[in-house]
Amino acid sequence: MLPHVQSLDADSGQVKQVVVLGSTGSIGTQTLDLARLHPEKLRVRALTAGRNVALLAKQAREFGCELAVIADRSLHGELRAALEGSGCRAAAGPEALIEAAMLDDVDIVVTALVGYAGLEPTLAAVSRGRRIALANKETLVVAGGLIAEAVRKGGAEVIPVDSEHSAIFQCLVGEPAGAVEELILTASGGPFRDLPREEFASITPARALRHPNWDMGAKITIDSATMMNKGLEVIEARWMFDIPADRIRVVVHPESIIHSMVLFHDGSTKAQLGVPDMKVPIQYALTYPERWKAPHERLDWTALSRLNFQEPDLERFPCLRLAFEALERGGTASAVLNAANEVAVARFLSEDLTFMGISELIEQAMDRLAGPGNTLDALRSADAETRRFAEEHVRAAIH
Ligand code: NDP
Repeated sequence: MLPHVQSLDADSGQVKQVVVLGSTGSIGTQTLDLARLHPEKLRVRALTAGRNVALLAKQAREFGCELAVIADRSLHGELRAALEGSGCRAAAGPEALIEAAMLDDVDIVVTALVGYAGLEPTLAAVSRGRRIALANKETLVVAGGLIAEAVRKGGAEVIPVDSEHSAIFQCLVGEPAGAVEELILTASGGPFRDLPREEFASITPARALRHPNWDMGAKITIDSATMMNKGLEVIEARWMFDIPADRIRVVVHPESIIHSMVLFHDGSTKAQLGVPDMKVPIQYALTYPERWKAPHERLDWTALSRLNFQEPDLERFPCLRLAFEALERGGTASAVLNAANEVAVARFLSEDLTFMGISELIEQAMDRLAGPGNTLDALRSADAETRRFAEEHVRAAIH
């Protein structure tokens, strides 16, 4: 399925036209850093954000964009005022996000928005046959089957941004179809990797937000602390690489130097390594199959005295087990898992739910609500129903 690498050092010289959905977040701002680094090769045409009007308008002016979209409709007027005289059109709401994803003559849509909100814009970009630099993992978690089918029909290209999937993708370049025995996703284990179970009850949001290796948005940082992030990545890998869950393995690797590995049928394993820096996989998703020169930090081999590996502990981190279960159940189970997790993380951050309450809520939602069906309508209503259930559950627990 993967095309061959054409050359080791050449680049096409063509300017790539880019849209960044979620430009004000961690992945979005790093994508724009890359556009600053390669101004002769990347042209940014449109940007979107959730609520951060000030930063969105500043970015749109700097890059001379033609369209800036704010997801929260109530901020439309504020964005319009902030862009006055810039020549950039201000738009708002979910339809405008879709419009940005479908802009004419665009080469790459970077999906760097967080959560379920990424699903419909991603589907729209796929339907236009674009290259999607996919960071928004929730999209494949909720609707991996639908996206895979739309990619097959529409000729789009989905290149992963997530460092683990980028590592696997890079290991697969040039390999024949059907050669893979197992995908091995590495996990840092997060800030509570070695914390005894009895201390989990006292985990606060401030503590969970301190990730040892990566600087990321709040949602994914909490997902890393619960290891739901790895669970979401397992589901993402299942669809991205079209491989069953029983051939995806998770290994805890605290140093985050090996970003993931592929075991082939002949017993050979390939790994992709680098310092933990998201700019590397983001750039590869923009440039593949080329590799552009960049000053990102290089690994210092002599300083790397040891790399450690261990099995994940599914008792202390039940979210990872729940993700494998969601894949096994099929139907709407992954959509339910995702929606319950989004509510649970937001409610943990607002201190309405405990850390262990996150996995308990997800498990209850899956037991109650997961069912058959994988159409967009079935997934949408599973998402909405789960959010209602989860909010009620939290409200009942508070009172
Ligand atoms: P952030 O929270 O830092 O940024 C999220 C972006 O999405 C912001 O631009 C935000 O706008 C926008 N946004 C938030 N809510 C909505 C909404 N309802 N509708 C439209 N836009 C919205 O997230 P990250 O950059 O950390 O992560 C983005 C995605 O990439 C996630 O799916 C994450 O799992 C994935 N990812 C992130 C990695 C990382 O290193 N950060 C690594 C691998 C994957 P505003 O600023 O206005 O709120």
